[in-house]
Amino acid sequence: MKVGFIGLGIMGRPMALNLLKGGFDLTVWARRAESMAPLLEAGARGAAGAAEVAAGCDVVFSMVADAADVEQVALGAGGVAEGARAGLIYVDMSTIAPAAAQSISARLLDKGVTMLDAPVSGGEVGAISGGLTIMVGGDAAAFAKVEPLFARMGKAATLIGGPGAGQVAKACNQILTGVGVLAVAEAFNFARKSGVDAGKVREALLGGFAYSRILENHGQRMLDRNFKPGFKAWMHQKDMNIVMQEAHRLGLMLPSSAATAQLFNAMVGSGMGEEDSIAALKLLESLSGE
Ligand code: NAP
Repeated sequence: MKVGFIGLGIMGRPMALNLLKGGFDLTVWARRAESMAPLLEAGARGAAGAAEVAAGCDVVFSMVADAADVEQVALGAGGVAEGARAGLIYVDMSTIAPAAAQSISARLLDKGVTMLDAPVSGGEVGAISGGLTIMVGGDAAAFAKVEPLFARMGKAATLIGGPGAGQVAKACNQILTGVGVLAVAEAFNFARKSGVDAGKVREALLGGFAYSRILENHGQRMLDRNFKPGFKAWMHQKDMNIVMQEAHRLGLMLPSSAATAQLFNAMVGSGMGEEDSIAALKLLESLSGE
């Protein structure tokens, strides 16, 4: 099976490398030469654009930023649809709105391309280790064909439902992780302002009912003041924006998500967009005094 990968950033680069290590014949394309270089050095074939990737492959993955980028990669000039050979399966693993995934999927189907939406959870660490959780929406037969490839990138791939269903699961994931980051940042800021060691608080709480991977991993990085991305604050803002747009569309009350979305808005507005979303702690601290 010939495999393509488009978008080689923090997540896409290690995911594509894991496909290469799995022995798959891989063709890649990224906008910037420096994004492509590590994959070419590792033995992948380079293409001049998305259409060229699609022309030479049976399955093409993309891992770009938001819906406008997926639209451009899939359906824009020089995009996947333009070069697609018959029977192509296109798997977008970026996080975008469910409605956008459904719309792109329907338009690709008109051009003979089957699309799966397959966003992921697990961050850069999961992408490097091949330990991602993959949430999939779309056609069951296409999912079965792509499963061996998912197995190189993730520890679990679940077909949730039809087109867009993977993105619904990812939006649920972002509610839990976004609210979780805010909760840990609030708890640490509370400890600090009370004159108590947040590290000791974390240590104690990890043994109790409030245990979470977010408290364990992100909490440690907060204590280390390590705000290097990881997952950029502007990306989490984008995801909470997706959640709030769906809440508006569906008439849903999501009070915790709304507060979290506001926090990420303020981070981006304060020039912290390129830092990891856990830098939310710094913003809370700056609003709470010494
Ligand atoms: P990133 O480091 O900014 O990488 C995104 C890559 O997409 C960039 O390398 C960029 O290419 C490429 N790209 C963007 N728009 C493009 C376009 N129109 N055409 C071609 N290439 C384009 O971001 P990331 O952290 O890997 O995130 C990628 C996706 O995964 C996002 O949807 C994010 O929400 C999701 N995600 C991220 C994490 C995480 O922890 N980072 C976790 C789960 C899910 P160039 O380098 O050539 O500019």
